[in-house]
Amino acid sequence: MMPDSPNKNDPLGELVAALQRLPGIGARSAQRLAFHILKTPRDQADALCAAILSVKDRVTYCSICSNITSVDPCNYCISPERDDRVLCVVEQPENVAAVEKTRGFRGRYHVLMGAIAPLQGIGPDELKIKGLLARVAQGGIEEVIVATNPNVEGEATALYLARLLKPLGVRVTRIAMGIPVGSDLEYADEVTMSRAMDGRREV
Ligand SMILES: [Zn+2]
Repeated sequence: MMPDSPNKNDPLGELVAALQRLPGIGARSAQRLAFHILKTPRDQADALCAAILSVKDRVTYCSICSNITSVDPCNYCISPERDDRVLCVVEQPENVAAVEKTRGFRGRYHVLMGAIAPLQGIGPDELKIKGLLARVAQGGIEEVIVATNPNVEGEATALYLARLLKPLGVRVTRIAMGIPVGSDLEYADEVTMSRAMDGRREV
């Protein structure tokens, strides 16, 4: 028997096992959180459960840009204040927040839901690339800023997209590498991210 396998007659052990499945939570943190929840008043525990279920039930993906949203299309896609001529392509919904932090970008977004990673079996067909091409083919977009992560997969994805997008008559730019190579946009502070956007170059 596995030492930490959850047991239906062991609610605390089950909670520890469930928490341990969360990213960045090791065995000790899981145990600490579980004991904290155990001591938490009932209404706070209810609120936590309700928040988790609400995210699962009410948050969905935008049918245009694939960003996470509770209204479809999302606010970034329908806002009349944003510039239709510039489209920023990111890997994950959380990367939209990183670009938004800069407050300098007022265009629209497209989330790929990953990057090309052949070793992990992720090819172009697994990503939201068809939708991106369709949006660009519709016309009106003048520049596509590829803000994929500055690592091997992100670079490969950027080159792949540039090859497909340029024949459609748009300018394709890549964010500058002020962000440490091999890192993730998620951890870029707003100054670094602003510089990366301002220093973008044509690919
Ligand atoms: Zn959207």
